[in-house]
Amino acid sequence: MNKSPCELYHIIWKKSRKVNGMYRTDNPIRDFENYDRAQAQALKKYPVCCECGEPIQSDYLYDIGGNLYCPECMEMKTQYVDKYIKEAV
Ligand SMILES: [Zn+2]
Repeated sequence: MNKSPCELYHIIWKKSRKVNGMYRTDNPIRDFENYDRAQAQALKKYPVCCECGEPIQSDYLYDIGGNLYCPECMEMKTQYVDKYIKEAV
């Protein structure tokens, strides 16, 4: 007896549901939405970079006068001093 792709999809999905705890309902779309919402909620606990506005999930950040920067933004701001040295008059 051959199964349709849709039936196979549901068999695979139900098996993965047992293995992977993130699936909770019988509706894959709702599961994804719940997962997405949980991810967004989890990101709210992180400090936000004042430059790019993204949650800072790295192990460290830069606190400059109370403004928080993620390592990526700090890297983009890092310059060689040579560029700023003025010629003697
Ligand atoms: Zn940033």
